[in-house]
Amino acid sequence: ATPTAVMVATGVGASNGILIKGGDALERAQKVKYVIFDKTGTLTQGKASVTTAKVFTEISRGDFLKLVASAEASSEHPLGKAIVDYARHFHFFDEPSTTQNVGNQSKEASGWLFDVTEFSALPGKGIQCFAEGKRILVGNRKLMNESGISIAPHVDNFVIELEENAKTGVLVAYDDRLIGVLGIADPLKREAAVVVEGLVKMGVAPVMVTGDNWRTAQAVAKELGIQDVRAEVMPAGKAEVIQNFQKDGSIVAMVGDGINDSPALATSDIGIAIGAGTDIAIEAADFVLMRNNLEDVITAIDLSRKTFNRIR
Ligand code: ADP
Ligand code: MG
Repeated sequence: ATPTAVMVATGVGASNGILIKGGDALERAQKVKYVIFDKTGTLTQGKASVTTAKVFTEISRGDFLKLVASAEASSEHPLGKAIVDYARHFHFFDEPSTTQNVGNQSKEASGWLFDVTEFSALPGKGIQCFAEGKRILVGNRKLMNESGISIAPHVDNFVIELEENAKTGVLVAYDDRLIGVLGIADPLKREAAVVVEGLVKMGVAPVMVTGDNWRTAQAVAKELGIQDVRAEVMPAGKAEVIQNFQKDGSIVAMVGDGINDSPALATSDIGIAIGAGTDIAIEAADFVLMRNNLEDVITAIDLSRKTFNRIR
């Protein structure tokens, strides 16, 4: 293609809200073989919300939620934010003894939470902190296993059931005992399944990569018609997944939104950032989808094919 054709294509992209950062990536896109999607915030809306909270000890529901929210209060993770929102709502609106607080300004502040110390985020696993000298752990099975917390069979079964319904199970341990589980749902983007189908029709293989557990990942992939799933990938592992697909010389695109995704975006042949994502992901990408619509992945590939592969 001539430089003029590339300029025209860049303009067509821009009018569709697709920011194309270079002609080379645009050229590579026509030959893409795999499109690897991050799950959370890319295939899903990234609007996590708690759907279930189950307590397995004698502690009250209110205290359980308050404890988990106190632990997650400093978390930047969407799961942490969902938990704090849910607990806040329960504390101020649902719990009978505190209904007098409705309308109180302090509902946005953290005054209703327990004091916690030594907060640490454990990427790909969860969080840890302490309250009154006792350890609180909130996260997945890996976190519990590595911290020596045993998961009773009835608790594990409860988590399995959540996961089979495409929800993420978050386990909570206090004073080294598992005290409860939360189920968190993150709805799919409306266009996600159609885009997956469209890629397959174009001869491109869609793949999903996620830090979430295998069962949840597979339930989500099934809803979308994605056959190839890589789950329980630690944040640093996403770039490695890309490299594995590139080994036989295949051209690989990565679509992502988060800080976690930027090494993978940079490693891929065509890094595609969702416009609503983090600045760091946008910086690492070759394409930015400003409309936050996955259909633009197909538009971008089409544009490349039309620009560089004219069959006339
Ligand atoms: P993703 O690739 O889906 O963005 P992450 O690497 O951010 O996944 O997280 C992977 C898993 O680690 C989550 O599914 C969850 O089980 C656990 N996790 C991470 N951060 C938290 C947190 N703040 N609270 C609870 N669980 C967490
Ligand atoms: Mg994400």
